[in-house]
Amino acid sequence: MIELLESWIDEVNEAHKSDRRPCSVLQHQFEGYYRPDLLRSSYFVVVKALPMPKMPELREAGLGDFIDNEDHFGGITYKDTYYLLPEAARDVGIHFHELVHVIQWRTLGARNFIQRYMEEIRRFGYSEKAPLEGMAYRLQKRFEEGVLPFDVEKKVVATL
Ligand SMILES: [Zn+2]
Repeated sequence: MIELLESWIDEVNEAHKSDRRPCSVLQHQFEGYYRPDLLRSSYFVVVKALPMPKMPELREAGLGDFIDNEDHFGGITYKDTYYLLPEAARDVGIHFHELVHVIQWRTLGARNFIQRYMEEIRRFGYSEKAPLEGMAYRLQKRFEEGVLPFDVEKKVVATL
């Protein structure tokens, strides 16, 4: 199932390649938080509806709530690309949050990320209680509180 999900993700990213924008358009807002090379090699796409995998296997695995949730607080990250609803795209804190997920994907590798994320959602529900989500929310909050810039990637890698 992880393989199936990964190939679905690759197809989605491939299909949106011409609509994606590099996160380097946000480099001024994220100066000191995210390194320029990370921003250049991460992307976002603004969409009317978030692409969600509708595989029956996922429902059987107890992830129905997650895949049927239409808004996901406005965004979802697949590998180096995150998808945002238009209102979320105007919120720099949400970009910040999704970039934490980009780093998690990179650091863990796609298969490990998918496996761990699914297990956490099953166990804790789609909430801040799920550790990978919790990490993204906590760091987003720090950013929104306006703390001094810190190296987010270093922090994520040390926490994973
Ligand atoms: Zn998240």
